[in-house]
Amino acid sequence: MGTGSSGSAAKRRRPRAPRVAVLRIGHRPGRDPRLSTHVALVARAFGAERMYLHPPDPHVAESVEGLAARWGGSFRVLPAPSWKEVVRSERGPVVHLTMYGTPLARVLPRLARARSVLLVVGGAKVPPAIYGAATYNVSVGSQPHSEVAAVAVALERLRGLPGTRGFPGARQRIVPTARGKTVARVGERSR
Ligand code: SAM
Repeated sequence: MGTGSSGSAAKRRRPRAPRVAVLRIGHRPGRDPRLSTHVALVARAFGAERMYLHPPDPHVAESVEGLAARWGGSFRVLPAPSWKEVVRSERGPVVHLTMYGTPLARVLPRLARARSVLLVVGGAKVPPAIYGAATYNVSVGSQPHSEVAAVAVALERLRGLPGTRGFPGARQRIVPTARGKTVARVGERSR
């Protein structure tokens, strides 16, 4: 078989990256809006489709949607009055990110084959029931760090880094430069 046909066969066999949603639990309205906003911004930038926020906080949704209006994509922050309901409704594996869990590299081959994955991150405290409700309890390095880092690394492993083309519907996009800042309005030619 020539290289052309084996190349296209390889392309056909390559599994699609799973669709990812994030559930952020343990948010403290009034104390955590910046941190939960950062979880959402990382989730959006690294290819998640939505973030459920428990308990709901409209301030987080507003600031993320304001940014998404300029930078594109269809990412949404959805209120989750019941985190258990979000977990119950998920059709794919529920991956609770916790420093106590199974190393990510061990679980990754199973996650990469899934159509969808729900990543769950906690805050200062995590309800113990999530350990039993999750399909996998997974660590991103067996050291304590942050929900923002855990979501970023897990998404990068599952979906790769975001590219430079910008998101659909964006009004602006970054033109990567070695120094300085270049932002192009979409539709304008980049230099
Ligand atoms: N001791 C807390 C606990 O109950 O897990 C740590 C809370 S930590 C400040 C907030 C969240 O960051 C955790 O709920 C978890 O989702 C995430 N996290 C922190 N370190 C992690 C790690 N090494 N691997 C995966 N997730 C981590």
